[in-house]
Amino acid sequence: MAERRRAKRVVLKMSGEALASPESGEPIDAAIVERIAREIVDARAELDLELAVMIGGGNIWRGSTGAGAGMDRATSDTMGMLGTVINALALQDALERQCQPTRVLTAIHMAEVAEPYIRRRAIRHLEKGRVVLFAAGMGNPYFTTDTSAALRAAEIEADLLYKGTHGGVDGVYSADPRVDPTATRFEEISFMDVVSKDLRALDLTAITFCKDNGLPILVFDLTPPGNLRRALSGERIGTLVR
Ligand code: UDP
Repeated sequence: MAERRRAKRVVLKMSGEALASPESGEPIDAAIVERIAREIVDARAELDLELAVMIGGGNIWRGSTGAGAGMDRATSDTMGMLGTVINALALQDALERQCQPTRVLTAIHMAEVAEPYIRRRAIRHLEKGRVVLFAAGMGNPYFTTDTSAALRAAEIEADLLYKGTHGGVDGVYSADPRVDPTATRFEEISFMDVVSKDLRALDLTAITFCKDNGLPILVFDLTPPGNLRRALSGERIGTLVR
């Protein structure tokens, strides 16, 4: 089967939960962070591409959790965004211990901790071979890091947005495969079908944003060793949404 076209500049969206320990429930498992960092370093070097990562924060806090318990939504979302910064620092640490130059760019200013997100700077870092870690989403409550990843990917003119999953669902399915054993995975699907069939691969705002801006998304399972390299090299894994 023909390979997919290989991208040169990409954004990888990773859920915060991808860093958590499935056994102990610890929000950040150092061994898992190290493994993901190793995969990022190896794939980036081997494929010679510019890689930015948008990290989520769901392993630490989700805005909807607090809002559901009566908290002010914007405050709760801000807590979620700060959680993503913690994750980004963990990933930066693991990447730099593997000699990969990295910059964390935050959408909420915290100059003592990381650089502020400035589009041109992000592009410059990528051109210099640094891995860029986007933290604090897009800095606005009521959004998710899926949508933030789509926005940043469009801003930096990435060819593709990679959405790495971690719960064993390796793409977009006709139904939830964890519930329905007859569910089948799409190798490719249109934005419109994802929306009209209500297939929740990414949140709806992210999907419609990518549709409006012609930004394809590859949904794949980040967990199996080597899968990030496979996805980035254009192997036909996961589901391409375009
Ligand atoms: N968040 C936000 N604005 C953003 C990005 C994130 O308010 O631009 C908040 C939101 O409350 C969200 C939390 O940060 O629940 C963590 O992000 P997300 O749920 O996307 O993380 P993931 O599920 O990918 O780990």
